[in-house]
Amino acid sequence: MQSLVLERQGELSLRDFPAIDHDEETLGPRDVRIRLHTVGICGSDVHYYTHGRIGPFVVNAPMILGHEASGTVIETGSDVSTLKPGDRVCMEPGIPEPNSRATRLGMYNVDPAVRFWATPPVHGILRPTCVHPEAFTFKLPDTVSFAEAAMVEPLAVGIHAATKARIKPGDNAVVMGAGPIGLVTALSALAAGCARVFLSDVAQPKLDIGAGLSRAIIPVNVAQDDLAKCVLRETDGWGADVVFEATGSPKAAAGIFQPLAPGGCVVMIGGQPDPIAYDAGAAMVREARVENIFRYAHAFPRCVNMIASGAIDVKPLITRTFAFSDSVQAFEIAASAPASDVKMQIEMPQ
Ligand SMILES: [Zn+2]
Repeated sequence: MQSLVLERQGELSLRDFPAIDHDEETLGPRDVRIRLHTVGICGSDVHYYTHGRIGPFVVNAPMILGHEASGTVIETGSDVSTLKPGDRVCMEPGIPEPNSRATRLGMYNVDPAVRFWATPPVHGILRPTCVHPEAFTFKLPDTVSFAEAAMVEPLAVGIHAATKARIKPGDNAVVMGAGPIGLVTALSALAAGCARVFLSDVAQPKLDIGAGLSRAIIPVNVAQDDLAKCVLRETDGWGADVVFEATGSPKAAAGIFQPLAPGGCVVMIGGQPDPIAYDAGAAMVREARVENIFRYAHAFPRCVNMIASGAIDVKPLITRTFAFSDSVQAFEIAASAPASDVKMQIEMPQ
């Protein structure tokens, strides 16, 4: 099985990876076997490549990368009832313990025992096939392409964040950060009913892509303009009802309440590997609600339906596609973080 293997920090290779056949390729009664079609490159994949770790998760042994995926069912376990060979699907990459306390409470994403693709020591899916539980595999309507389906995973983060924010129709939102997660959050906030989304970043090409998604998205280049001043000016001095933090930058987090309206909600999305500080006094005088999200739960079917109906269009976010044979080069380009790219994807041989 030719796979894209992160051998160690800074070293990728495209090679046979025989060990996985025994560990993770056995088809259980409630599993399906999937031939991978499209895999998105995530910031976390790139971070494991460039840094060899994310917080407590350290790459100590060769690991296959990739977790944003779509494909085709090629085999089903004996008890599978909702999927059949030939079905086009996308897959939720985190599998919790089915009987854990968190799972039984519906918060399966925060189950400490969750096994998530391409998070050491669990392998990812930049490989020809994988075995996955039926319960975390979602059938695609004909109108959703493999490329769009591989965007469901990042979109799920935005949908989960918008859900936690409890957006009301006509709310004004701020999204700090115009990377892939910031942009899917902006789309999710609009789909949830926001009147306007102020989108901030320092990279003008990313802001231009964001502004092109909807005329309700207002770009703010924080290399030139002050975000809070801009939002207050545009909202009669009141501020935004919701502020999403999608930069992972301690500096952005430090000023998170400045553009927030009284009674508003801040949602922390960006990964913060180290402890950060924010202004608790500014939160207090607003009676701000602060939400944190960790990945997502129960979001995949909603994302598939929204892409299928046209309520959300993720196609403009897919800026480059590579053949699997070029995937090492694709990661090198992704690691250089080109300002005009949002999501790069890899197409697997069929
Ligand atoms: Zn991802």
